[in-house]
Amino acid sequence: NNLTIAIDGPASSGKSTVAKKIAGDLNLIYVDTGAMYRALTYQALKSNVNIKDENALMKLLQDTDITLRKAGEGQAVYVNEVEVTNDIRQNNVTNTVSIVAAHPRVRTEMVVRQQKLAENTGVVMDGRDIGTVVLPKSDVKIFLVASVMERAERRHKENISKGIFSDLDQLKKDIAERDYKDSTRETSPLKQADDAIRIDTTTLSIEQVVDKVKQLIIS
Ligand code: C5P
Repeated sequence: NNLTIAIDGPASSGKSTVAKKIAGDLNLIYVDTGAMYRALTYQALKSNVNIKDENALMKLLQDTDITLRKAGEGQAVYVNEVEVTNDIRQNNVTNTVSIVAAHPRVRTEMVVRQQKLAENTGVVMDGRDIGTVVLPKSDVKIFLVASVMERAERRHKENISKGIFSDLDQLKKDIAERDYKDSTRETSPLKQADDAIRIDTTTLSIEQVVDKVKQLIIS
């Protein structure tokens, strides 16, 4: 199955949940590109590399092997074979990853790695620039959006269910700020591809979104 499906959209729009489900159902490899930027950010924070210094980050990236592996329903993330699946979701990473992802040379290297992961295989890849830059020839391109309020509430519920402290107002601010940074950076900002289909998930359940995407894949 060599289908290539690109799913882009802003932070917490449901991309990874939907992408994972589609990949599982259609037996395609799932690639979470946000996890790769997060992994580099985590490694930089851990090694005291200045995330504003592109040269330093590039040096670090050369020594940073990032591996995504299927783990049950989800995906496990490894940096130089050390598992960092949960570490890369912590606030310190979430709130700084957009700075790392704005560096042009970091993006170029990440795009090369992402394209390699999609070589000779079907994939569902989610991120910000998959339909526009990484896999512009995808068979199906989806752009998922949802209101900031809805996205903050989803994150809030998820945090609470995991027993993580959560402040709804702060989440709203953080999400809006990440949207702003991701869509105003100079290199491949978050943007809907001309041939992508936009789905507003604000009032939809995960199942409804998955069904819509599947219909688009079949048609
Ligand atoms: O998808 P997720 O929210 O985990 O992505 C984390 C961050 O990584 C985004 O806010 C964005 O700054 C960056 N990113 C990106 N390009 C991608 C995927 C993620 O710039 N393709």
